Amino acid sequence: MARYTDSVCKLCRREGVKLYLKGARCESPKCAIKRRETPPGMHMRRGKQTEYGERLREKQKLKRFYGLLERQFRRYFQLASRSTENTGEALLSLLERRLDNIVHRLGFAPSRAAARQLVAHGHVQVNGKNCTIPSIILKVGDRVAVKGKAKSIAQVKLNQTAYTVPVPDFLEITGSEPPEGRVTRLPSRGDVDPRLNQEKELNEQLIIEFCSR
Ligand code: SF4
Repeated sequence: MARYTDSVCKLCRREGVKLYLKGARCESPKCAIKRRETPPGMHMRRGKQTEYGERLREKQKLKRFYGLLERQFRRYFQLASRSTENTGEALLSLLERRLDNIVHRLGFAPSRAAARQLVAHGHVQVNGKNCTIPSIILKVGDRVAVKGKAKSIAQVKLNQTAYTVPVPDFLEITGSEPPEGRVTRLPSRGDVDPRLNQEKELNEQLIIEFCSR
């Protein structure tokens, strides 16, 4: 499956905000955006941003924060626009319920990319069954657990000592040996990872306008 393999710090520099793609490093003075605040590339035009550009940047920021490629993001947008809820809220709820995001927000992995790898390498179970697909969307009541193998537990314990994020209200930790958690309710707009809005509040309306063109 296709994935982004270039430097992820470039993505933060391009969006002009921290996207927290590297776990503990993002909180340290080594964060690239603190050292170089300019967008990447030699020939970047730095003129006034157009309306189109503003909408594009908002969409790219959300897509990159959750580590998605364009096709995946468009698929989530289509699903959200078909739902009976507000499209923006439905989109954010879908993104928050991805397995890789939930593994990260339960504190089992320091970033979404690390969570994705943890899942793909077979260290995670959903409702007692092995699951290697980071993109599955979880439902209320689904249980996510680290496999009972010593290697899997040791990896997660190491991650937990290195860097953890606060567990959001829609999730609960239900076990520690092996680490386990549960989705207690559907995430709402207020449950979205606060780091997404830390520097600049996300404007979902701009994303809807961009994707509905
Ligand atoms: Fe790199 Fe993390 Fe800083 Fe982004 S926030 S520039 S990913 S270190």
